[in-house]
Amino acid sequence: MVNLGDTDLPLDTGVPGVFLSPPGFERVVDLLRAGVAALAADEPFQRLIIPPVISRATIERAGYVQAFPNLLGTVHGYGGTPSGWSRLKPLVEQGGEWYAQQQIGDLVLLPAACYPVYATIAGQTLDDAAKVTVEASCFRQEATSEPGRLRSFRMLELVTVATEEHCLKWRAARLEQVEGWFTDLGLDVSVEIADDPFFGAGRKVYQAAQRMQELKWELRVPVTDGTVQAVASANYHKEHFGDIFGITAGGEPAHTSCVAFGLERLAFALIARHGKDSTQWPAEVLAALGGGHA
Ligand code: ATP
Ligand code: ZN
Ligand code: MG
Repeated sequence: MVNLGDTDLPLDTGVPGVFLSPPGFERVVDLLRAGVAALAADEPFQRLIIPPVISRATIERAGYVQAFPNLLGTVHGYGGTPSGWSRLKPLVEQGGEWYAQQQIGDLVLLPAACYPVYATIAGQTLDDAAKVTVEASCFRQEATSEPGRLRSFRMLELVTVATEEHCLKWRAARLEQVEGWFTDLGLDVSVEIADDPFFGAGRKVYQAAQRMQELKWELRVPVTDGTVQAVASANYHKEHFGDIFGITAGGEPAHTSCVAFGLERLAFALIARHGKDSTQWPAEVLAALGGGHA
C-alpha cells in the first residue's frame, strides 16, 4: 500500500493551512458529527448540504466584504479568447503571470456555513422559528497558520431564524448546553465574550459594539500543547440578516442566531486530550459522541 504518512493526523499539503484528513482523523470528525446530532435531537432541524462556494452577490449583500475583505477568497476564471490564451499559455511553463487576465466571477469561496441559509429563505415570512443545520467546507485567507488555524476547514452549524426573543433564548440555552458537552468530553472549556476580526478603519468601534451587545461568545479549549483556541462560537446577529434578506418573523425583520463548531479544531482538541486512537477513548467520552459509533 502507498505510504500516506501518519494515518491518524492531518497530512501536510505543502501550502499553509490546507491539510488532508486520513481515516483516523476523519473518524474523530464523524464522532463529532454524531455528538452534535445528539445535542440537536431536541429540536427538529432541517438539514441543508452546502457547497464550498457561494454567490458573490450574496456575500456582498451580507456585508462580508466590508467587514472581512482580507479573509475572502474570490473565484476567478479565464473568459478570454483561445487566441488570447495562446499568448498567455507559455507563461505557465515559464513561471510567469499566466493569470494576469483572470476575471472575477459570480462565486466566492464560502467563508462561514450559515450565510447560504439566510439567502435561501430570503423574502419569507416565518410563522415558526426556522431551524436548520448545515455543514460546509469554509475558506478564509488567514494571515497566520499556527496549529488549529487553517485556511480550508469544516464548519458545522445549528442555525435559527425567528423573533428576537426566540433567538436570544435559543442562543443562551445552546451556549450552556455546548459548554456542558465540552466538559463531558473532558475538555477544559472557557466561555468568553468575543468579537470578530473586522478589517481596517472603524475596527475598534465595531468590535466594542459587538462586545457590548454580547453578539458573540466563544468556547475556547486547548487544541494542542499550550494553544487555546475557539472550537465553537455562539452568535446572535440581531436583525442584520433579516433586514438584508427580507425575512420576517412576528411582524418584524427576523433575528438570527447560530452555533458554529470548527470540526478540525474540535478534533485536534479531542486528540490532544485523549490520544490519536479514538477507539481507545474513555467510555464516557465516546458516550458523549453519539455512543462512539462513527
Ligand atoms: P478565530 O477567533 O479563531 O479567528 P472566528 O472567531 O473567526 O475564529 P467563527 O467565525 O466564530 O470563528 O467560526 C466558527 C468556528 O469555526 C470557530 O469557533 C472555529 O472553531 C472555526 N474556525 C474559524 N476559523 C477557523 C480557521 N481559520 N481554522 C480552523 N477553524 C476555524
Ligand atoms: Zn453562523
Ligand atoms: Mg474569534
